Amino acid sequence: IKNIGVLTSGGDSPGMNAAARAVVRTVLYEGGKVWGIYDGYRGLLDEKMEELTSRSVADILQRGGTFLGTARCKRFMTPEGRMEAYENMKKRGIEGLVVIGGDGSLRGASKLSAETGVPIVGLPGTIDNDVWGTDYTIGCDTAANTIIDAINKLRDTASAHSRIAVVEVMGRRCGWLATLAGIAGGAEVVLIPEREFDLDDVCANLVKSYENGRRYSLVVVAEGVGSGIDIGKYIEEKTQMDVRVSVLGHIQRGGSPTVQDRVKASQLGEKAALALMAGQTDVVFGFNKGKVVAINLHDAITNKKPLDPEYIELADMLV
Ligand code: ADP
Repeated sequence: IKNIGVLTSGGDSPGMNAAARAVVRTVLYEGGKVWGIYDGYRGLLDEKMEELTSRSVADILQRGGTFLGTARCKRFMTPEGRMEAYENMKKRGIEGLVVIGGDGSLRGASKLSAETGVPIVGLPGTIDNDVWGTDYTIGCDTAANTIIDAINKLRDTASAHSRIAVVEVMGRRCGWLATLAGIAGGAEVVLIPEREFDLDDVCANLVKSYENGRRYSLVVVAEGVGSGIDIGKYIEEKTQMDVRVSVLGHIQRGGSPTVQDRVKASQLGEKAALALMAGQTDVVFGFNKGKVVAINLHDAITNKKPLDPEYIELADMLV
């Protein structure tokens, strides 16, 4: 395959630019043609795509977000929509697609490939680190660093006022970001969807630790367990202590990607382009034990990724 398209879809994440840039430059290096498809699957349907040059991806490596734009596209959820997307690719001679996105985007990619036979390679682009088969997703490291930066600041003020700081972090149904925030941010309590907890026990332990001389506490709540605001209110009522809740929200999605996100996204982009050009399809590239690995696309979207129990244990042990 010589003529390929690249798109970013679903929630954006820092490092998507680095991945797309690597795809573009690898294809060009290998003598192929590459199309930038704008706003995810919507661009395929609205025919918002253009051929890219090496210069098209200059000056984006250091930027968060995605220069290709991203979107959620309802029409692509129907077989008719996907067929139309395929026809629009065919018109331009685009023979294969690199899809950079989260779980939903990869699901859509799998359907497009199954229904039309068009070769597709996926890259996991999400801050949530929730894609099965890979212990890394593009953007997760930058998001984790953003959370730690916020936690450092919240610690200063929580300590000054002897308060309980409750921080709600992203991750959808996955507690990876919260657990990392727990370990690297030194949280006393980490609430994640992968593990049951009793909020009354949590409150009793918080009270006990104050009685033992603790000056302030940090409670990290993964968005997958519920609202940080509600949990904060409950803790305040139950413990009668001073609680402040911070919902970090979309701050976690942005920012200049870390070195790790830039390097790994570049590695994945290169592999995706080479694989697609070599005729591979229905694979997702990710990392396992520091090495790039190919994951079956079907497996990646049907299995639920477990959270490494060693991380959970470590977060618990170090409080
Ligand atoms: P993410 O990729 O970040 O998980 P979404 O779940 O919103 O984000 O998916 C992004 C887009 O991918 C959707 O707007 C839709 O166009 C497409 N998509 C998601 N799930 C499916 C599906 N089951 N079938 C077809 N297309 C899908």
